[in-house]
Amino acid sequence: MTQNAKPILIAGGGMAGLLFALLLRQQGHHQVVLVEPMAMTLAEGPLSPSFDARSTALSAGTLSIFARLGLYETLLEDAAAIKTVEVSRKGRLGITRMRAEEEGVPALGAVVENRWLGQVLLSAVLQDTGIRVLAPNKVVAAKRLVEGYQVELEDGDTLEVSLLVAADGAQSSLRQSMGISAQYEDTGTFALVANVEILESHHNVAWERFLPTGPLALLPLSQQRLALIWMGPKDYIDELKALPDAALVEQITTLAGEDRIPPLGRVGGRITHPLIATKAVAQVVPYGVVVGNAAHTVHPVGGQGFNLTARDLSLLAEEVGDAQKPGELQVLERYIQAREKDQAMIRHATKWLPDLFRVEFGPFAHTRQLGLVALDLWPSLRTAFAQRAMGVRHV
Ligand SMILES: Cc1cc2nc3c(=O)[nH]c(=O)nc-3n(C[C@H](O)[C@H](O)[C@H](O)COP(=O)(O)OP(=O)(O)OC[C@H]3O[C@@H](n4cnc5c(N)ncnc54)[C@H](O)[C@@H]3O)c2cc1C
Repeated sequence: MTQNAKPILIAGGGMAGLLFALLLRQQGHHQVVLVEPMAMTLAEGPLSPSFDARSTALSAGTLSIFARLGLYETLLEDAAAIKTVEVSRKGRLGITRMRAEEEGVPALGAVVENRWLGQVLLSAVLQDTGIRVLAPNKVVAAKRLVEGYQVELEDGDTLEVSLLVAADGAQSSLRQSMGISAQYEDTGTFALVANVEILESHHNVAWERFLPTGPLALLPLSQQRLALIWMGPKDYIDELKALPDAALVEQITTLAGEDRIPPLGRVGGRITHPLIATKAVAQVVPYGVVVGNAAHTVHPVGGQGFNLTARDLSLLAEEVGDAQKPGELQVLERYIQAREKDQAMIRHATKWLPDLFRVEFGPFAHTRQLGLVALDLWPSLRTAFAQRAMGVRHV
């Protein structure tokens, strides 16, 4: 590729920003600048909110992106493979099971704690001399130039960049600076997240239980633990968060099914997340692109958000990598046109899915048997579900 005098600047050092910096470097870009308001040191790990106490289910596709970056082995040092997904619904007999061997793959995906994901990404970024990390620092203003953007940083510095990448989260101020508005949909629901010790092996099974209040997922983690993600109305989630350990364990065991999941031990720190769907009304402008949570924040049902972003960024890096002028609108439009279908499908599927759980009868009742994580880990199922949920295919 032709070298550009001006760098590409990524605002935001969360999952999306760090991954995109590495993908750009893989495409041969020599000048990438990454700006993040929180400290980014290996001693402490990245302090970005992306890397809180959550865990992320990575699909096989996302793992192959990490493999291309040479990070797969390191990532798997502290991750648990998903070999089976078991989906069940309270009040309904039967379990839907998906097994890696039946799909002819070694694993359906892997679950990794966000902190470890952050360490792996950040250590690769810091080792790369072609990425200039400015942290703690912040983009405070961005002005369009004839060819590029002029960016003002909190420390008073200004930079001229060939492409401005807004990876600054759902409340993105950079998105606004680019003149792009966003639609927000507050679902009124929250997710409770915690790690739970198990007294017997999980055998690499991900359990997904659909309750009338919302979905409860227990994902396999390294070191004899499960990652709990329990979604429901705010009051219900607040009550669960406040329960003593023993009472919470009893609730999980009773609702997830004592005969299905391994006996549970201690519960780690609990955090809650509001579930607000966000959609940028546009994702590209001349010399600017909006990615990750800033572009689309979807319901965590199905573990879709970061996997969708990884697919976006992989293509964006390729398009930009081939271009003489990476910020040119026709380059960015080629990217967004190619990504529209996948983004729309995930948006619709994750919007519909929680609603479907609340419907007791009706044509979609049995689609509740379809999996959370499974939707992303098993593309054919995801496609089939999305088609059904959107009414494209009859059940
Ligand atoms: C409960 C829950 C469970 C989830 N589970 C899964 C899962 O299993 N699988 C999956 O694929 N996805 C999952 N997701 C989605 C995933 O977490 C998101 O896709 C991911 O966090 C997006 O990261 P991001 O970097 O775009 O945004 P963020 O994490 O919001 O990061 C934005 C960054 O920008 C920085 N920033 C803010 N302002 C500025 C500025 N002015 N200048 C520079 N930087 C700035 C912030 O400090 C932050 O570091 C889940 C989400 C939730 C809530």
